Amino acid sequence: MNVPNEPSFRESVDLMFNRAVALMDLPPGLEEKIRVCNATYTVRFGVRLRGQIQTFTGYRSVHSEHKEPVKGGIRFAMGVNQDEVEALAALMTYKCALVEAPFGGSKGGLRIDPRQYEDHELERITRRFAYELAKRDLIHPSQNVPAPDMGTGEREMAWIADQYARMNTTDINAVACVTGKPLNAGGISGRVEATGRGVQYALREFFRDPRDMEKAGLTGSLDGKRVIVQGLGNVGYHAAKFLSQEDGARITGIIEWDGGLFNENGLDVDAVRAWIGKNGGVTGFPDATYSKDGSVLLEQDCDILIPAALEGVINLTNAAKVKAPLIIEAANGPITAGADDILREKGTVIIPDMYANAGGVTVSYFEWVKNLSHIRFGRMQRRQEESRHQLVVDELQRISDSMGNKYTITESFKQKYLRGADELELVRSGLDDTMRIAYQSMRDVWHERGDVPDLRMAAYLVAIDKVAASYRAKGL
Ligand code: GLU
Repeated sequence: MNVPNEPSFRESVDLMFNRAVALMDLPPGLEEKIRVCNATYTVRFGVRLRGQIQTFTGYRSVHSEHKEPVKGGIRFAMGVNQDEVEALAALMTYKCALVEAPFGGSKGGLRIDPRQYEDHELERITRRFAYELAKRDLIHPSQNVPAPDMGTGEREMAWIADQYARMNTTDINAVACVTGKPLNAGGISGRVEATGRGVQYALREFFRDPRDMEKAGLTGSLDGKRVIVQGLGNVGYHAAKFLSQEDGARITGIIEWDGGLFNENGLDVDAVRAWIGKNGGVTGFPDATYSKDGSVLLEQDCDILIPAALEGVINLTNAAKVKAPLIIEAANGPITAGADDILREKGTVIIPDMYANAGGVTVSYFEWVKNLSHIRFGRMQRRQEESRHQLVVDELQRISDSMGNKYTITESFKQKYLRGADELELVRSGLDDTMRIAYQSMRDVWHERGDVPDLRMAAYLVAIDKVAASYRAKGL
């Protein structure tokens, strides 16, 4: 979404980048080398549908190849354009660097409204797009590994993986050519929920440090915090679900394409999701106040605002009216550069997109590693871990018995302790660790450098430093 009188999405990303590099001491020229997008491939292809040939336009942009493969989703939406995929590819470079996923940045998109097509038609279109990209190595396990994004999911990734495998019948690593696949087609447990889960872990880490809370004027924990979510797609839904069901947050507002729902006492996220599934939108949902113009809820009083849909939704027209003291950018680029300035002035704390939604690519990284190692995480260790834990429990029991049963080992402890970690637990543990470490690296820069006004700039500084170090190490 391009907002009138404001820089484009890519220009916004560049402005934020420039603000950060002004504080860095990069060798002449390196700054530009990192900022610019290396290449963008545009393809137009025809598919025979409903008795006529329809032409589609798609893109795959490669922002930086300081590490390979390059990584980033493929989005299916009518608004897809070159500026947008380039901005998103740049964000992927910084995102991967920040969370130490060993990839360069890329992004793709197809200009299409997927809702206008039957499943079998979408399959043909997706396969044809995948063919066009794969034959130029823009889908490739060691060169370029796409993933889901807006308008795409497990189903499209399975088609892409299969298309690549058909074109590369002897490639033993073919399944690693794309991530976000269904479990039965080489996917990993926990990938679907990963971005939303990452948002939850990011907020938990935020609430661990009183200095961060103080900057936003918040106290306590996530428990009881009023949260407004824009977009109840995969990311917004999982974030809202986990925050309300596991951390005690109250989802007071949900904004969707056809309006917004508000309930001061908290909305039942699963019920809203089920309603949307059945009725196509939030209109008519009981137990909430409905407003046709959902965007008014962006300006509603709350503790945490989670834009989890499109870019540019908080812009010069509404930034000054946003009341949330804390915004976490679950979407990519929801706040324009101009709005970012206004919010910073107001003291709003923003947990930036390149960090906040990095859970997706982090678990994609685990999936890619799983595919290359051809074995599920935990398969070798799980039972061995359980038998070692059994030894400890037996020994505790023996000691307790020898002391006349003065101490008892509770059943619930035994159950929890004895169970070895399965793939989902390992994925969550790896994601939690990644989100904590990345947050801590931003936090250190934010609090300790004195000249860094916000977390976004801190994120850029950490990320650009890592990309620059890669270039310095390997040469250009
Ligand atoms: N599309 C997601 C993103 O913007 C995931 C990318 C990936 O997993 O490669 O981060």
